[in-house]
Amino acid sequence: MASKNIPVMRCQKCNSYYVPVKYSCNSCGSRELEIVKVDGTTLIYSHTTIRIPPEVYRDQVPYDIALVILQEIPGLMFTSRVMCSGENKIEIGKEVVFTGTDELGYRFELKRGMPDV
Ligand SMILES: [Zn+2]
Repeated sequence: MASKNIPVMRCQKCNSYYVPVKYSCNSCGSRELEIVKVDGTTLIYSHTTIRIPPEVYRDQVPYDIALVILQEIPGLMFTSRVMCSGENKIEIGKEVVFTGTDELGYRFELKRGMPDV
């Protein structure tokens, strides 16, 4: 199952998409932006492990941060936290599933099980 209900900003004038929240569109300058929830396959484009965090997140290290792409919206790429467990390790190209937001921003977990057929 692909990620569901990922909140993203959409420009009502030119249909550009953004993450995170913006107050005006980079493409057309419009301030008519809305939050829409989108479904889609989300893949890891790049990633890193944070071992020296900002002070406020010191008790959470190490944690993984990834640049993810939402395939259904070309060009939309954003940073998020990815939760990993056990032998399921973070890798470029792996699919992730949206689980919500927290103080660090968007949160995903690695997709488990067999691929969709
Ligand atoms: Zn626009």
